[in-house]
Amino acid sequence: MAEEIYTAMIEIQCKELRMPGLRKAYAALAREATDDGHSMVRFLSACLTEELESRKQSRLQTYTQQAKFPVHKTFEEFDFTAIPGLPKLRLLNLAGGQFIQGKENVVCMGPSGTGKTHVAIAIGMSAIAAGYRVRFISVMQLVQELLQAESEFRLPRYLRNWDKYDLVCLDELGYVSLSQGGTLLFQFIADRYEKGSLLMTTNLEFARWVDVFHDATLTTALLDRLTHHSHILLFDAESYRFRESQQRSGVTA
Ligand code: ADP
Ligand code: MG
Repeated sequence: MAEEIYTAMIEIQCKELRMPGLRKAYAALAREATDDGHSMVRFLSACLTEELESRKQSRLQTYTQQAKFPVHKTFEEFDFTAIPGLPKLRLLNLAGGQFIQGKENVVCMGPSGTGKTHVAIAIGMSAIAAGYRVRFISVMQLVQELLQAESEFRLPRYLRNWDKYDLVCLDELGYVSLSQGGTLLFQFIADRYEKGSLLMTTNLEFARWVDVFHDATLTTALLDRLTHHSHILLFDAESYRFRESQQRSGVTA
């Protein structure tokens, strides 16, 4: 058979087998193998490596899109000296994703502007790089979606939809009273309990959560679940945002 026929077949076969990486790379790898006198086994290995790498890249891209981060933030951009009380090593350990393996939780607690959301996103992005599925959502949006799902009688299906994520980053449990949404948020957290990891950011210390959920029994049950197997990170330095704006305006902190 003429070489072109094999080329055409490879094109079709790679499409059918869904191997876009191989399809893109094989010609150059074949040329390289011929020029450098590599064995066929080595060539095959190079082809498979290329396909695996391409799959990893496209998974990374898909998972990052699905995570719906509001912005992209990394640990490289994070100034640890701004929050001296934050245990850097423990944080970088969390970035490794072992806590997700153990279905443990993380709570980032501290005043506004201290980098909680930044760290939540950075942990989420590292988790994706480690192969986990992540979803980032604000408490407000989640509660709205829960209320809507309930009013449309599709709450169980809505909750099941979250099972596919290894890590859910729940951003900004704040002062807004959740009234009936509080029970649903409790249900969400209870439903996730020991099924997958949850990372929550909040500017409220635990003692004040009852102001949001109103019901003391429910709040205790929620804290029980959330803080069981949990890493609590305290962001207690002066607000980074505040310090930056002061520096910009020439005021020394
Ligand atoms: P929080 O969620 O605690 O209110 P954010 O994470 O939204 O705070 O931080 C506010 C802004 O300041 C973001 O743009 C964030 O990237 C930046 N920021 C906060 N802390 C740091 C830090 N230690 N190093 C670098 N950037 C920071
Ligand atoms: Mg925040």
